Amino acid sequence: MTAAPQYGIIGHPLGHTMSPALHNWALARAGLPGAYQAFPVEPGALPAFMARARALPLAGLSVTIPHKVAVMALLDGVSARARRTGAVNTVYWDNGRLLGENTDVPGFLAPLRALGAVPGCALVLGAGGAARAVLAGLAELGVARVLVCARSLPKAEPLAAEFAAAALPWDQRASARADLVVNTTPLGMRGAGQDQSPWPDDAPLGPGQVAYDLVYNPRRTVFLARASATGARIVDGLEMFLHQGLEQFRLWTGQTFDLPGARALVGGLLEQA
Ligand code: NAP
Repeated sequence: MTAAPQYGIIGHPLGHTMSPALHNWALARAGLPGAYQAFPVEPGALPAFMARARALPLAGLSVTIPHKVAVMALLDGVSARARRTGAVNTVYWDNGRLLGENTDVPGFLAPLRALGAVPGCALVLGAGGAARAVLAGLAELGVARVLVCARSLPKAEPLAAEFAAAALPWDQRASARADLVVNTTPLGMRGAGQDQSPWPDDAPLGPGQVAYDLVYNPRRTVFLARASATGARIVDGLEMFLHQGLEQFRLWTGQTFDLPGARALVGGLLEQA
């Protein structure tokens, strides 16, 4: 008898990740065997963990902070998209090879594509790991003008250069007149920074502009609430989370899951969190 496939997420610290709930629900709904669990892996323990993952073998892995870059060297190959992004968030098997993909990129793009028009100018707030996926996505979408704005200009500048974007000092972010403003900072996240917005109050976003927050807990951040109140369209971080998870599930199982059902499941869990 062959063992049921095991999937999981590696990161440190893992906190309250919603990925086990999402993927276990999706496996059960599809009638597929296997289970998905959280594997807290400290940075120094990554090579040993990946050796074990090969030996077991684990059928698929989600990868989060701080392993998205380091895991690339421990795989048999990575996709062109993951290489362009400079990070892997998904590990899967293909013909006996352990490969890396970045599903944050299509996850970020899916709700934007659903809005229809390609923004002429996009402003990315923050210059960390998630900003990489956003910048790779904006390049795939063909956005003509992209600006990267972070509280540390020395971090924004090389990242912007890597993606043919321009860097902007943090205190000039409201001057950009962007069609799309994407928050990739943790400002607004449940906890100490929940009442904060990365966007200044005195420069409200309005009709014709889109505010997109990668933060998904809470779903309605201060940034999104204010942007919606002043007439901008909004996209919450749960959409990216669900779509990146959908692409992972497809890579691991060849199947999709029901997005409205997944939205209700994870949305409900976030309300209880
Ligand atoms: P990260 O690598 O730590 O980067 C965070 C960025 O935000 C850095 O540029 C950081 O600047 C900046 N920042 C932090 N605190 C700030 C503050 N008080 N004011 C201004 N800038 C600040 O984190 P990450 O992996 O990119 O993740 C960022 C957020 O995206 C998290 O909330 C995460 O949950 C979310 N995320 C969501 C999804 C999704 O599917 N929806 C996917 C990935 C990430 P410094 O470098 O100067 O500290």
